[in-house]
Amino acid sequence: MLGEIMTLHAYTEYKCKNCGFRYVPIPSAPQCPYCGSPSEVVFDEFVDKFLSSVSHNIIMYRSIVPPAWATITIGDYYFLIGFFALEYMVKKLGLRNNKALLMEGVDLDKCLDIVEQFIREKMNRVVIEWDRLFLKHVEAFLKEVCHKLQSPETISDQ
Ligand SMILES: [Zn+2]
Repeated sequence: MLGEIMTLHAYTEYKCKNCGFRYVPIPSAPQCPYCGSPSEVVFDEFVDKFLSSVSHNIIMYRSIVPPAWATITIGDYYFLIGFFALEYMVKKLGLRNNKALLMEGVDLDKCLDIVEQFIREKMNRVVIEWDRLFLKHVEAFLKEVCHKLQSPETISDQ
């Protein structure tokens, strides 16, 4: 179909004004993961945008991870790791399908636990300090996602 949207991107870019580190300031972790400076903005809707993108992928591709993904902004990088984290979560929770993750809600403690497992088991090749700090920030993002997943009615079906 003409004009059909393949994937929903983050369109979120931020650079720490103190050290130049690129990350996404989110409500639970607004400060720079590298130097600790406070951010000038906070992206309140970043997690909502991410879940809309996930929902879009499930509808279009029946998959949380889309068949192709271009990382254009730093936000897209969070999205990409988030897709893999949620795919991992569906497996760990033993859900029948991807949609159930968005429709049925997930217990918060279980979700937070799986996020930590995902970071430990799937992202463990990360060795340099820069990546470790970034990854810690992505973990904070994934934990915000968990808070949203508790109440699935807040997630729009587009
Ligand atoms: Zn900084």
